[in-house]
Amino acid sequence: MNSLYVNKIIDFSFVDGPGNRLAIFLQGCNLNCGYCHNPETIPDAKVNSYTVQQLYDYIAKRKDFITGITVSGGECTLQWQALIELFSLLKRETALTIFIDSNGNIDSEGLSYLLPLTDAFMLDIKAIDDDVHHQITKTSNEVILETVRAVHKQNKLYELRYVLIPGINDSVDDLKKLANFVLSLGDHPPLVLIPYRNHGVKGHFKSIPSMEKKQYNYAKETLSSQGLKKIIEKNNFFTKK
Ligand code: SF4
Repeated sequence: MNSLYVNKIIDFSFVDGPGNRLAIFLQGCNLNCGYCHNPETIPDAKVNSYTVQQLYDYIAKRKDFITGITVSGGECTLQWQALIELFSLLKRETALTIFIDSNGNIDSEGLSYLLPLTDAFMLDIKAIDDDVHHQITKTSNEVILETVRAVHKQNKLYELRYVLIPGINDSVDDLKKLANFVLSLGDHPPLVLIPYRNHGVKGHFKSIPSMEKKQYNYAKETLSSQGLKKIIEKNNFFTKK
C-alpha cells in the first residue's frame, strides 16, 4: 500500500470547496510561484507519512461530520498513485464527495486515473501568456491549460482561480487572453478573482505592491466586458487607499 506525505490536515474547513470539508494539504509542488504563501509545502520532503489505510481511517472517524474531503497542497496530484488508492477506498466505503484543489500541472496519466474518482476540481490559472507564466512560476502553462480543458470536458471543473498581480498579469491584453480562454471552454465555470497581496512574499515579488481596489475593479470590469458572466470576487483583503 502507498503512503501519502502530508503537510497538514484541517478537520473542518468551510473555505476549501462546498460545505464542511476535511482538507488535506500534501507535501511537494511542481511549480515555484514567486508569490507562494505556502513555500513550506514546495520541497519534496518525505515527512508526516501516512499509509493510505491510516489516512482513510482518519477520515472515516470524522465522516459523519463532514460533506467531503478536499485534497490540496503544494500540488497534491504529484502523489496520484496513492490518491487513487485513497479515493477508491473512500468511494467504496463512504458517501463523501472528493475534491481536488490543484495548480493544474498534472501528469496526464495521473489525471486519466484521478478524473473518474474525483467529484470536482478547483484549478489555478496563473497566466495565459506562457512568458508571463514562466515569470510567475518558472514553468510553462501548456500542461495546465490542457488540464483545464480535459477536466471541464468531463463536467468536473468546480471553479477556476486567477490571482491578479499588478504589472505582471493584469494588463488589458492579459485579461483579454484570459477571457478568451475561459470563454473557449463553452459553458464556462466560475472564475474566482483574487487580488495579489505581498504580505509574507519573498524575493523580488516582495517589491510588487498589493493590489488596490480600483485596480481590481478595473480588471473585473475588463473581464466582464469581454463576456465573462460568472466572476466570483474575493476582495476582502484590500490595502486601504
Ligand atoms: S502552485 Fe501553489 S503551492 Fe505551488 S508554488 Fe505555486 S502558490 Fe505555492
